[in-house]
Amino acid sequence: MGEFRLPRVLISEEQIAQRIDEIGAQISEDYRGKNPLFVGILRGAFMFLADLARRITTPCAFDFIAVSSYGAGTQTSGIVRILKDLNEPILNRHVILVEDIVDTGLTLDYLNRFLLCRSPASLETCVLLDKRVCRKIEVRTRYTAFTIGDEFVVGYGLDLDQQFRNIPYVGIYEPEKK
Ligand code: IMP
Repeated sequence: MGEFRLPRVLISEEQIAQRIDEIGAQISEDYRGKNPLFVGILRGAFMFLADLARRITTPCAFDFIAVSSYGAGTQTSGIVRILKDLNEPILNRHVILVEDIVDTGLTLDYLNRFLLCRSPASLETCVLLDKRVCRKIEVRTRYTAFTIGDEFVVGYGLDLDQQFRNIPYVGIYEPEKK
């Protein structure tokens, strides 16, 4: 591992915090009395969900599902594998899937179909970043923090070959030119 270079800031910590305040308030209002179950998609959504959770002011619960959609590198394979399933049943629960980023839409589309088979009372998605221009399949997202262009981003949970997840902002990693 070479020298650690910081990614260029695309969305700052302050911008993220402010948007999560807004989305947290909106979800709290929309789901009051429904005891929603937030389902974080590992690993990328861990930081977003941790911050969002602290902004929810109505009783709720949390579960996690782990998937792998990419191999090493930045190209989507189109293949979604469930590495860890939910711990709890979701029958008749109001489920909110929390994802770090929607790119082609393949992961979210697969997970939607996978979870709808278990008959939740409702299923909606909350995403930190939406790369709308990259969509290969149409998927509906109920809450979106930021829409970005076709650029590979890291930080705030998002990785490049498992690095940079700990960076507290969303940035663009530019490898040093040789
Ligand atoms: P999709 O199935 O193409 O929508 O991709 C969703 C998954 O790809 C996300 O959960 C991320 O793990 C990964 N991904 C897509 N774009 C990026 C990016 O710009 N940075 C880091 N991970 C990404």
